[in-house]
Amino acid sequence: MEYTCDRCKQTIHPTTDLRYTLTIELEAAGEGDEVEIVDESDTASTLDELQDLIDSADAACSSVFDDAIYQIKQFDLCKCCFQAYIKNPLAREPGTVELKRKQNSV
Ligand SMILES: [Zn+2]
Repeated sequence: MEYTCDRCKQTIHPTTDLRYTLTIELEAAGEGDEVEIVDESDTASTLDELQDLIDSADAACSSVFDDAIYQIKQFDLCKCCFQAYIKNPLAREPGTVELKRKQNSV
């Protein structure tokens, strides 16, 4: 099976090229306040109600609100893109950090 690099769209041949998988997991971190998921399972006395809960959970998962709390993303990278990524994983503009430091010290 062939893969495609998610960054440069180049085909990655499993026999000749190294393939890197990148998993990015983002989770909102509160100050001591855990994000609580309300457990409504007590109220689900029948299978129908349970199914309703599952349906509403699906709807909640696809909402924008949930995206703001937790996201997981997976990418396939070729060797070149892996090396480029690992040098600058947060895609920072070169020099931005230095510039801020200077402004703060003045
Ligand atoms: Zn690539």
